[in-house]
Amino acid sequence: MDLHRKGVFSMPVSDISEPHEAYNGEVNSEDFWETLSMERIAAGLLKTGDRNPYNIKPNFEYWAPWIGRYTRKAPIVLNTEWQKVQSTSAQDLITEMGITEERLSDELMKLKVAEIRKLCKACGVGTQGSKTDLLSRLRGQMQTRTAYDKIFQKVWGASGGWAVILCPCGVVYSVKFLIRAESPRDFSDMLFSWKHMPNICIYDFARGLATHANVRRPEAMPFAPFEGLLAEDTEDNLRAALSGTLTVSLPWLNEKKLDEDVSCHPVTGSSDHYALYDKFHESNSKDVRDSLRKIQIVPELAGSVNTQAAEQLFSGMRKNNYFLNMMSPTTHMFFVRNILHIQNEEKNKSMLTKIQKGHSKTTVNLQKDSLGRLVVGKFITCIP
Ligand SMILES: [Zn+2]
Repeated sequence: MDLHRKGVFSMPVSDISEPHEAYNGEVNSEDFWETLSMERIAAGLLKTGDRNPYNIKPNFEYWAPWIGRYTRKAPIVLNTEWQKVQSTSAQDLITEMGITEERLSDELMKLKVAEIRKLCKACGVGTQGSKTDLLSRLRGQMQTRTAYDKIFQKVWGASGGWAVILCPCGVVYSVKFLIRAESPRDFSDMLFSWKHMPNICIYDFARGLATHANVRRPEAMPFAPFEGLLAEDTEDNLRAALSGTLTVSLPWLNEKKLDEDVSCHPVTGSSDHYALYDKFHESNSKDVRDSLRKIQIVPELAGSVNTQAAEQLFSGMRKNNYFLNMMSPTTHMFFVRNILHIQNEEKNKSMLTKIQKGHSKTTVNLQKDSLGRLVVGKFITCIP
């Protein structure tokens, strides 16, 4: 799971009104995406200057993520993005803003000194001193909502990017086009809309995701056991994890559990849910307990799972950003979703060809199982 920050559309952030009181965060994704298709068709029939009756302006209550038909529970999916703006509880602010703040700080570092100085002026803090002085002043200011919004608008300049959930093989299962800055809320919205939440989530801000999801659904505790840590945070375990000697085997990642857990994932038979860091992001963390979220601890994952799938997808999409980012919000979404769909199909097709080539000397019976996966003897691939 990751964010593509460069995939944006222009949008005045302040123009979006709050949703109606009755809005509970549920939106019909089938209707929404159908309207986006209708907008494209109607565009071909209208005269220049005519208003497209299917156009949807960015808003908080009719704005749906795209989640694969067989991946989602139902056409009704969650989008609670407006709560990023409304939230006042301390816990929410920590999980919502803390994460984005880390991303913002990274982006601020890349700005030129003159730009940082301008930003300091806009936020009403001193403009004297070195780049480090300016940055530390801005970071202090980010704790307040108004300064934070100013910094966000300057650095981002537009919408919040795409939050994407994809399989390590590269197949994209979900994408959410963010109006505001990314937060674990966005990934939780999508995961809560899935029929089966994956047992392992790899995310740059794994701790924030586990905390947010568990605070939001305390009765279900989506990330458990140990709040999505691989082992209990005892002194012994922490010491072992920090020295690189801790091993937690999850054999059901390779072979389904014979004795299935209650409400388990149908592929693994396990109901455990872990939120982990890939090896490039684990050093970001300031919390020592996060050493229990390293994927290297799990022998079934270490070295064999491609944790760079999202980066690979985003670097491939970069060549499209010059035209995608000039489009209106809904056109942008329609085309991104189309490109992702075609890429998914291509990935599946090339996997199929590879399997067929491997079996060319024998007749092979390829079938899909009840979960839509391609089955060749014992070999299973992922087909969404
Ligand atoms: Zn896959």
